[in-house]
Amino acid sequence: MNEFDLIKKYFDWGQDIGDDCALVSVNRYQQLATTVDTLIEGVHFPADTTPQDIAYKALAVNLSDLAAMGATPLYFTLALTLPSVNEPWLEKFSQSLRVLAQQCSIHLIGGDTTKGALSITINATGILTKNQALLRSGAQAGDSIFVSNTLGDAALAWQQLQNQQNPSTALLENFNRPEPRIKLGQSLLGIANSCIDISDGLQQDLSHILTCSKVGASIDLDVLPLSAEVAKHIANTSDWCMVLAGGDDYELCFTVSEAHINKLKTVQEELGVMLTKIGVITLRSPVSQFRLTIEGLDKTCKSYQHF
Ligand SMILES: [Mg+2]
Repeated sequence: MNEFDLIKKYFDWGQDIGDDCALVSVNRYQQLATTVDTLIEGVHFPADTTPQDIAYKALAVNLSDLAAMGATPLYFTLALTLPSVNEPWLEKFSQSLRVLAQQCSIHLIGGDTTKGALSITINATGILTKNQALLRSGAQAGDSIFVSNTLGDAALAWQQLQNQQNPSTALLENFNRPEPRIKLGQSLLGIANSCIDISDGLQQDLSHILTCSKVGASIDLDVLPLSAEVAKHIANTSDWCMVLAGGDDYELCFTVSEAHINKLKTVQEELGVMLTKIGVITLRSPVSQFRLTIEGLDKTCKSYQHF
């Protein structure tokens, strides 16, 4: 049973639980967007990761989910499980967490500490004007599909770490310090028809948009944005699945109708973030629903599964 089947069977109790954040109305005008993520040593990061990097990523991956909804960060709680009290470690962890929190104007309002194998859980909450959130369910046939920055850098770093190789500083930076695309998400409100953050790989996360929006998509390998290092790795190995299904990118994937393409260009210029059109949303195929066609790929990539 994979994680999505598990959630559907045991925890889908009739509420809408299928987006990057849950939305809760607080009054007639505003909604809270709330999300939770856990990082576990050995599963999400190697045992020798610095406390600074662990803290940064634990908060950044939650901020990335807020970004995917276009939410403005408000507050977070922290549940920290530690094998022992190591004050120098805690000092560094706390300092790094605080720097990112201040940068993104999000406030630590509570939490829990327990003893056990190292694990960090953060629950982050943001706010939105009611009915403005970027959802996975709004993609329309004819929309262009975009991704921010480059794909595959974190997956290549993780692969090299597991093979006892030393990833470059740039690759490690992408793996340990993904930049939450908060400003981009906020700027896409009223422009994008749908949005998701890429945590499990483009193939799986774009497929969530297709399923929720009941549309298909066609993307083209030739135009996927790659760093020089990832492009070189692909040239040597043809391992496109690392880019499509490696995960940990924390970039935004979103769809925009033709009518809003010019507004998107303005956003791109204002934020100075690289945005690349990688394909188009198509009508769903009568044969295979919500089908993702990847031009140039001759096999199916196995997406990351927790179970
Ligand atoms: Mg997400």
